[in-house]
Amino acid sequence: MTSRITYVNGRYVPSREAVVSVEDRGNQFADAVYEACQIKDGAIIDLRRHLDRLDRSLAELRIAAPMSRAAMTHVLREVARRNRVENGYVYWQISRGAAPRDHAFPAGVDPTFTATAKSQDIAAAALRYEKGVPVITLPDNRWERVDIKTVGLLPNALAKQAAREAGAFEAVFVDAGGFVTEGSSANVWLVDGEGRIVTRPADRGILRGITRSVLMEVAAAEGVPVVERRFTVAEMKAAREVFLTSAGATLCPVVSVDGETVANGAPGSVAARLRRRFHDIAERTPI
Ligand code: PLP
Repeated sequence: MTSRITYVNGRYVPSREAVVSVEDRGNQFADAVYEACQIKDGAIIDLRRHLDRLDRSLAELRIAAPMSRAAMTHVLREVARRNRVENGYVYWQISRGAAPRDHAFPAGVDPTFTATAKSQDIAAAALRYEKGVPVITLPDNRWERVDIKTVGLLPNALAKQAAREAGAFEAVFVDAGGFVTEGSSANVWLVDGEGRIVTRPADRGILRGITRSVLMEVAAAEGVPVVERRFTVAEMKAAREVFLTSAGATLCPVVSVDGETVANGAPGSVAARLRRRFHDIAERTPI
């Protein structure tokens, strides 16, 4: 399920012909930011919020936006359309551009903008919702600006690989104080003894997930109280429910942490309820 058509700096090309410079700063310094939106039933989900977060990431790194939001929206819809994606995701990345290797910012260089869209295996995702997934915990060894959505994801990739090798679906990072930060590619939640959903405040320790923000609106609509506070691995293991949120997976129940079963080892009712309502509240941009 690879992207057949890739957008690169103004052109839609067959993916095997899509090229960027070896000296692109995305390659050499991870000097690039990205976004990924779910595509569901022929619509891009929560695009406006993802574009807002992208603007913030670009501003934090002082990378120029390659085009207007309207033009970018057009490109993303076109990439999804040309790849005939009904259910999957669109991924786009903006680097500071290509320039002779020098750590400091180059002058007069245009950003590099690439975008791809892929279909997703809906059956595999459905099975994960039905059965829930195991996670492991690992020390958070990332830099402190994980609130910026950069392609500097090596610690995340190593953590996800460690999870795979342990037979788990996701790795959950834990800060030096013993508090959970987030997953390698998802935010983490628990349901406490009072039925409240709890997630870490979106300070600089985590990425402010768009799914996280929308889920708070879903919870409000469903009358489920939300608490933003830090929690420990022990609290997660003792919770009524644990779940992950991300644009790719929406909401995925967690049924074990480091091999210890959460509650009765089955996905919980709060997660199921919030998941059912999610797409009533999320915004849709038809392709
Ligand atoms: N945290 C990390 C580290 C991520 O990579 C992601 C998504 O890729 C998320 C959280 C969830 O963010 P969103 O809901 O915007 O996809």
